Amino acid sequence: MLESAILCPSWRCEAGASLIGIILADGTVAFSKDRIVIDEAFVEVARQGRSPEKRFRFSSTCKRAACIQWTEGECCIPDLIIKEHQERGPDPNEPFVLPECSIRPRCRWHLQSGDAACRACPEVITDRSAERVAPALSAD
Ligand code: SF4
Repeated sequence: MLESAILCPSWRCEAGASLIGIILADGTVAFSKDRIVIDEAFVEVARQGRSPEKRFRFSSTCKRAACIQWTEGECCIPDLIIKEHQERGPDPNEPFVLPECSIRPRCRWHLQSGDAACRACPEVITDRSAERVAPALSAD
């Protein structure tokens, strides 16, 4: 496969990216079996609420060495999320149904780490920063 065809499964909300999943109330991702390319109108609306990267998962072309997560010729994220997933304690032998994910044949994480990446992936929220809290009003 051409390197330029490989997709990052945790990209930002920007026109031309694809919407691949929605974060549910329990903090896990419900993947879409269809890849939905988003446009400026979607981005504008999505940015009016909480960070869209806290509410959705987006995908775009893997940027390889131009990405901060690129280390020693590969993406460092799959190993990290698999380790975090294993530390949370689910039994690795427990039966697991692969999420119906629209990008699997071209997903960087799956290409690197196989189905183990897909076990951990539904726990990934792209924007893990704290929400900004509005400053309290002062009567002074
Ligand atoms: S790691 Fe698996 S579930 Fe996650 S985006 Fe890639 S193919 Fe889909």
